[in-house]
Amino acid sequence: MIWNPAEKLKRQEMQELQLERLKQTVNRVWEHVPFYRRKMEELGVRPEHIKTLKDVALLPITVKDDLRDNYPYGLFAAPQRSIVRFHASSGTTGKPIVVGYTRNDMEMWTDCCARVASAAGIGQDDICQIAFGYGMFTGGFGMHYGIERVGATVVPASSGNSERQLMFMQDFGTTGLIATPSYVLHLTEVMAQNGIKPSDLSLRVGLFGGEGHTPQMRELIEERLGIADTQNYGLTELCGPGVSYECLENAGMHINEDHFLPEIIDPVTGEALPEGEQGELVFTTLSKEGIPMIRYRTKDISQLNYEPCACGRTNVRMSLVRGRSDDMMVIRGVNVFPSQIEAVLMTVQGIGPHYQIIVTTEHFMDRLEIQVEITDGERLESYAGLEGLIREIRQKLRVVLQIDAKVTLLNPQTLERTAGKSKRVIDKREKCF
Ligand code: ZN
Repeated sequence: MIWNPAEKLKRQEMQELQLERLKQTVNRVWEHVPFYRRKMEELGVRPEHIKTLKDVALLPITVKDDLRDNYPYGLFAAPQRSIVRFHASSGTTGKPIVVGYTRNDMEMWTDCCARVASAAGIGQDDICQIAFGYGMFTGGFGMHYGIERVGATVVPASSGNSERQLMFMQDFGTTGLIATPSYVLHLTEVMAQNGIKPSDLSLRVGLFGGEGHTPQMRELIEERLGIADTQNYGLTELCGPGVSYECLENAGMHINEDHFLPEIIDPVTGEALPEGEQGELVFTTLSKEGIPMIRYRTKDISQLNYEPCACGRTNVRMSLVRGRSDDMMVIRGVNVFPSQIEAVLMTVQGIGPHYQIIVTTEHFMDRLEIQVEITDGERLESYAGLEGLIREIRQKLRVVLQIDAKVTLLNPQTLERTAGKSKRVIDKREKCF
């Protein structure tokens, strides 16, 4: 079901609404946030320079460090007495970032999350279990309000304690599960250990967010649970969940663009890219009062599709996030993401899931090497077999990356295993800056 008429506006109506709200937002930060005013003055931009939507490119870029540097209240555009809620992101180092919501912001957030729920087919007959953390994290509360708004029953289980999650799911007849896709895969393992079959549950749909969702994970969840799923996307800096969401067509995430104006920029040059190009997502909030964001760099790599969707929604879709611009390598002028290489390797039979990417300079040229382990040690005996495997990997990489890579096959269990995030990329190039 389409929850809000804003999801099916004609392009021109949407653009008119966006422009009106963009002007209001720019005025608001100019008046109330000295940080933005100073940055605009440095660029020689004033609110009256915003005449069309494209003029958003005149505005200064905002990055996560700006939120940290202005911790806690420096970017707020509303006085404390009109803020009704704080949330914060978990910073891995130093201070977190903190965001504040006015009553109108809470209403907007709730409506955006109701659209997420509704697009996944959630309604009054559903019992939805939220396995996202509550507390300062935005995930639990955001989805909680949205799901309650569409009339479903909320089970605020919060994160962790898988046995208890499964007990609630069985006893309450949970039909919708809100979690990260990797947690759902973990749950399926706990189910297997405890002899719980998918048919013992009433689960029919998963609403996944909080991390990327790869086609491989989607297939695996489908295979193990036999449920439909939708992916949704959000950032604490923008509101939390509710920025964009898939419908059951699973054909990209519809952006709530009446509230969040998206742009795609080249992550290296910062230039705006033409429609349909892949690059870094940048959002300007259009209705937030507490802490508006002007051209916030998400570091997430995606692309936009303005074609209307088969579901009837017309709001623009963003592709599932391909990677982080932080991870991006520029090799011989081509943007390369480790996730692209990983996706290629997953399609090749006979090699293991571990790999290492090594970038070096040779005769002033970038050289890319991929090291992978073969799973079957006996294959090392057959020279022709190895050559064939290398040829297959190189060819598949060339199709995706458009550059040549050296492929090195290693004995099983050669690459270092680490408990945490493994270091996949070793860049040995000499930096000339
Ligand atoms: Zn759709």
